[in-house]
Amino acid sequence: MKSRLPFEYQIIRSARKTLSVEIANGGVLVRSPKYLNKRKIEDILFQKQNWITKKLFISQKIIEANSGIKPLDDDDIKDLRKALSCDIKARCDAFASALGVQYKNITVRLQKTCWGSCSAKKNLNFNCLLMLCPESVRSAIAAHEVCHIKEMNHSKRFYELLYSLHPSYGEDSKWLSEHGKEIIYRYFRSVL
Ligand SMILES: [Zn+2]
Repeated sequence: MKSRLPFEYQIIRSARKTLSVEIANGGVLVRSPKYLNKRKIEDILFQKQNWITKKLFISQKIIEANSGIKPLDDDDIKDLRKALSCDIKARCDAFASALGVQYKNITVRLQKTCWGSCSAKKNLNFNCLLMLCPESVRSAIAAHEVCHIKEMNHSKRFYELLYSLHPSYGEDSKWLSEHGKEIIYRYFRSVL
């Protein structure tokens, strides 16, 4: 049977109940239950083809941006964690004192989908891969999380506070949405 899809894909069948589609290493990976035949799988892929084509394009762009750049290994991550712990603390301290608030602890770890967070207990958490982002982006994320100590939401007031602390927040978060996945890819080697 000739495929009517504009992309190639690989199928892994297992005892799972549902079908999932993943974009990995610039290709399409389908995880399928054993009972689905190829025609049924292609019907599903056909319905999802706009989404898949778009993700494939993004994924190929990310891989291209990383060509010639050495992937990060666990030693690199250790170094990045150390470096960011120091770097981000200084930024958080400055923003916290400007706002007159106090955070509890800062944790820096490796994360695939999150750059920073703030818990209800005022603990701040940052992704060590931020160390590979421009300085201004690190400040933007630090400011964002410190503002959550005062405003635990994304209301208008939250953003007013945030922009008063870090006026280039808009450009910085735009940079992150355009290039963040390229940086995540340097360790995780997958984009979704
Ligand atoms: Zn937030």
